[in-house]
Amino acid sequence: MSKSGPTDTGVDRDAVLAWGRANLRDLPWRATRDPWRIVVAEVMLQQTQASRVVPRWYEWCAVYPTPESLASVPLGEAIARWHGLGYPRRAKNLHGAATAIVALHAGEVPHELDALLALPGIGRYTARAVMTFAFEADVGVVDTNVARVLARSAGTALTPSAAQDRADSLVPAGEGWLWNQTMMDVGARHCRPDPRCDGCPLAGSCRWRASRRAGAPDPAVGSAGVSRRQAPYDGSARQARGSLLGDLVAGRRSSAGYDATVVAGLVADGLVVDRNGELMLP
Ligand code: SF4
Repeated sequence: MSKSGPTDTGVDRDAVLAWGRANLRDLPWRATRDPWRIVVAEVMLQQTQASRVVPRWYEWCAVYPTPESLASVPLGEAIARWHGLGYPRRAKNLHGAATAIVALHAGEVPHELDALLALPGIGRYTARAVMTFAFEADVGVVDTNVARVLARSAGTALTPSAAQDRADSLVPAGEGWLWNQTMMDVGARHCRPDPRCDGCPLAGSCRWRASRRAGAPDPAVGSAGVSRRQAPYDGSARQARGSLLGDLVAGRRSSAGYDATVVAGLVADGLVVDRNGELMLP
């Protein structure tokens, strides 16, 4: 594979990298290669917008600067500190990952794909994100933004393995960190659900851009890794779960008045303990 330049799919990788050098968003986790801080950022970013993650990431890095520091506190403390970020199973996963890193890897975040995938809450996107954003490995990461770029520039919806293969094949040798950060920002700035193709560094070779005006359907719809819109929060089970957890964080303990299904779901997820009607964090 050449270091950069056009690939067999026609993508001008030099243009993409140049766009990245000039336009990358200034996000604090981009200024570190500390693997643990990258793990914390990537787990938070799985389902929360970057602007909301920034202050909470600083807070978590200050309170839990190492896997040991998180693994040494009760799970309930991690769940309480997570409150407000949503999807609190991620706090449990992060606590579990810290515990496994201490037990199995002497407190050092592993850099091999299989070892990362074995950690709680680390899926194929997050594992590769840690590999490239902490260890600068030349692997392609496919988050929802990148998945749109991959499908549209290819002009076709992709299966999970095809999306991963395309992502991996596009990475210029030695440029994994910059390439992946750039692809994510191209997806966030240009290849949005409603695309803004003017100024996109892939515009010259993008197959959907060429056919879009003729009415070709959006290849990103239904393509691997492209998330659908989240259901409304108000009135949802997520809201009820967050409300109950918020009450526990604030010190309430009685289960009276809560929907039994919501309580049972939180207990089944290991986020709440029910001792004969008295609720508490684990
Ligand atoms: S040219 Fe348009 S559709 Fe193609 S990758 Fe860029 S923003 Fe997406």
